[in-house]
Amino acid sequence: MTAIATALAAVVGDERVVRGPVDAYVKDETETRLIVGSCAAVVEPRSTEEVAAVVRWAYEHEVPVVPRGGGTGYAGGAVPFAGSVVVSLAKLTAFRRFDPELWRAEVEAGVTTHLLQRRARENGLLYPPDPGAGEQSHIGGNIATNAGGPHAFKYGTTGAWITGIEAVVPPGEVITIGGAITKDVAGYDLKHVLIGSEGTLGVITCAWVRFIPAPEARHPVVGLFPSTATGVEAIEAMVGSGVAVAVLDYLDHGALAAAPPAFADGDVAERVGFALLCEADGTAVEARSVRAAAIAVVEECGGLAVAPLDASGVAAVWRWREGMTGAVTTVRGGKVSEDIVVPLDRLREAIDGTHAIGDAVGLPACSWGHAGDGNLHSTFLVDTSDPDQLRRAEAGAVALFDLAVELGGSLSGEHGLGLVKSGQLERFWAPRKLELHRGIKTLFDPKGLMNPGKKQ
Ligand SMILES: Cc1cc2nc3c(=O)[nH]c(=O)nc-3n(C[C@H](O)[C@H](O)[C@H](O)COP(=O)(O)OP(=O)(O)OC[C@H]3O[C@@H](n4cnc5c(N)ncnc54)[C@H](O)[C@@H]3O)c2cc1C
Repeated sequence: MTAIATALAAVVGDERVVRGPVDAYVKDETETRLIVGSCAAVVEPRSTEEVAAVVRWAYEHEVPVVPRGGGTGYAGGAVPFAGSVVVSLAKLTAFRRFDPELWRAEVEAGVTTHLLQRRARENGLLYPPDPGAGEQSHIGGNIATNAGGPHAFKYGTTGAWITGIEAVVPPGEVITIGGAITKDVAGYDLKHVLIGSEGTLGVITCAWVRFIPAPEARHPVVGLFPSTATGVEAIEAMVGSGVAVAVLDYLDHGALAAAPPAFADGDVAERVGFALLCEADGTAVEARSVRAAAIAVVEECGGLAVAPLDASGVAAVWRWREGMTGAVTTVRGGKVSEDIVVPLDRLREAIDGTHAIGDAVGLPACSWGHAGDGNLHSTFLVDTSDPDQLRRAEAGAVALFDLAVELGGSLSGEHGLGLVKSGQLERFWAPRKLELHRGIKTLFDPKGLMNPGKKQ
């Protein structure tokens, strides 16, 4: 045990300090970019009070604190630096309240996204945010990254479903903001300062979440198009026509090469250059009507619509979408992916620009993502055993940030800045805006010990 681990054992009890290898706590999904950290200790508190005791001790002894959820982040936000304490929220898993008849719950930060979705579903409700790694990701991590997902197009990102937050902030105090209320304009919106703060302002220990009644029916509509141009035209037509789909995702030809739509006719799958994935939901009547309207838009734009209604066909479509990340990663063994976001009318330029950057750095490129939100997962495929490929991919990532900003967009739509985009704000933000941003950090965390080096 390190001296820090021994000291923390005295603060919160020996059994709260993780013994043995801590490898699983020093990395996240950026491991595919060979990013792995190290730390002095890992603690797993069982209560908010224990989290507060750890933060208090760390603040007093000037030891950095890195909050950790499920470790599914794509930005290296949960990757610690040497000498820091990782505070894992994995053991804070209580539903403090679950009030389905009032469409709300109060859940601790370590509850997984899937468990919350399931409890809602079992009670005829919907918790709409659906970031892709829900079996593993925590509600605390979802809030800390303001995670999105396919259904964010209709329902918004995690932050839209959070009515209150309990957090431990430096130097170790527990605060609550909002609660079981759906409106609150007393004071500045501190809740949304913590939402998406990536563990740099405090440790989220509990949240009040809201639900809505579950839609009666959900039907996928896949549109297969010969080219990016026709596919993007269909995206704009879908939005412009007012067809209220819940999901409006896309896959470009590079992504389709890694994950062909096997559920479609074989010949079609080989010829397809762009795909759209929509979902129609609502009452049974509404869902059928939106489905028909979405199919009509796809066909009017020259696409082929595949819209299964049977359970196995629907499952095959979602398996395809959810397997996307894994399929792309296996092509070369690794990937460098950035989740840039642009205004919807610049999407085509961002998709084409991703390929142009891939050509410039000599790496295969592709993108997929949440078309309706203008949010791309722009990706370069790499063999991680080749340092030169990794270096070129990282250069490509920086070029992607330039592209996003040039198109009127932003560096990150959902994964956050974390470690991988550290230093990028300075390249793009005006001095006064940066000063305000840093001022908020200093106010919460005057010693700069909360997840240092991230979100800057
Ligand atoms: C296959 C796959 C698909 C994905 N799809 C999506 C998607 O569609 N949309 C999307 O937005 N993301 C997606 N992600 C990324 C990831 O799942 C989200 O960013 C998720 O919200 C991270 O949650 P986590 O609990 O794993 O957090 P971690 O990875 O553990 O942490 C992420 C950041 O939050 C901070 N943090 C974690 N918990 C707390 C807490 N309790 N208090 C304060 N700070 C905390 C950490 O310090 C870190 O900075 C995907 C990831 C994978 C692997």
